[in-house]
Amino acid sequence: MTNETKSISVLIVEDELAIAEGLVDLCEMNGYNVKHVADGESGLAEALSGKYGLVLLDLMLPGLDGFTVCDKIREQDKCLPIIILSAKNSDDDIINGLKYGADDYVAKPFSVPMLLARISAVLRRSRQPIEGDGKLVAGNLRVNFREYAGMRGSEELQFTRKEIEILEYLWKNRDRVVSRAELLREVWDYENAESVDTRTVDIHITKLRKKIEDDTSHPQLLVTFRGEGYQFRVTSE
Ligand code: CA
Repeated sequence: MTNETKSISVLIVEDELAIAEGLVDLCEMNGYNVKHVADGESGLAEALSGKYGLVLLDLMLPGLDGFTVCDKIREQDKCLPIIILSAKNSDDDIINGLKYGADDYVAKPFSVPMLLARISAVLRRSRQPIEGDGKLVAGNLRVNFREYAGMRGSEELQFTRKEIEILEYLWKNRDRVVSRAELLREVWDYENAESVDTRTVDIHITKLRKKIEDDTSHPQLLVTFRGEGYQFRVTSE
């Protein structure tokens, strides 16, 4: 246990007491400070207090559900890492959770080593500064990485930190196709990327396209190479 780990606080928003207790123990045993709340309103208020380095967020909650909590956190905080705990592991839940701005999801019941690996990857990642020259310019699109903001034509764009990290990585490597496994390794910091569901990547790409593409049914910037991955395409004009 390092001091660095010790100082990080994890917020657990979970109404099932048995699961919550397990998570609290697990996090405490691994050196994190932990706060547990059991409903959506308290979860949102705590998450926005600025005290936490990570939120573990259940979806089915009394009061505000997890989707709404996630959405409302993102309205005010583009960076706070959020991992959704999805009981059903249903596609809709996962897709919606990521759409509302979660960084990742973990299906319940989860394996303890896997959850710990995800937590530490997310925390490690969130402490790294956004690098590079900080800007992307392609056609009518302009993005300032450090400000999580940009313009498409005259339309103002806002991004989450994870979206910026993906965009920045693809932009930096725009001379080649980047695989989903590479994105999971480099942008999510998952060492064992092969075991992670690549839909996490695809859903984030879909969200990004909605923001940066003129026509999402014919993406011109974030191009899919079937079976290979994605490339940020730079057209010479
Ligand atoms: Ca629940």
